[in-house]
Amino acid sequence: MAMEKGLLWTAIGLLAAAVVWAACRYAYFYRKEHFTCPHCGHCWKPPLLRMIFSVNAVEGKILTCPCCGTKEYMEPEKDS
Ligand SMILES: [Zn+2]
Repeated sequence: MAMEKGLLWTAIGLLAAAVVWAACRYAYFYRKEHFTCPHCGHCWKPPLLRMIFSVNAVEGKILTCPCCGTKEYMEPEKDS
């Protein structure tokens, strides 16, 4: 029984770490980064819900540009 409890807490710990990591990543993005549409050059920050539920691809995301409507792979860029 002690063994099972240990596994449960390990799982909860990993989940919590993943949530904290994601929260930090998003906080960093909103403070320091933005996406630039490769099609029209529009700079924007997507709403948090869209960030969470959009498709992750390598470093960036598959997002639809609010300016021209193009669905493209976009990588976060540093705010200047
Ligand atoms: Zn665009």
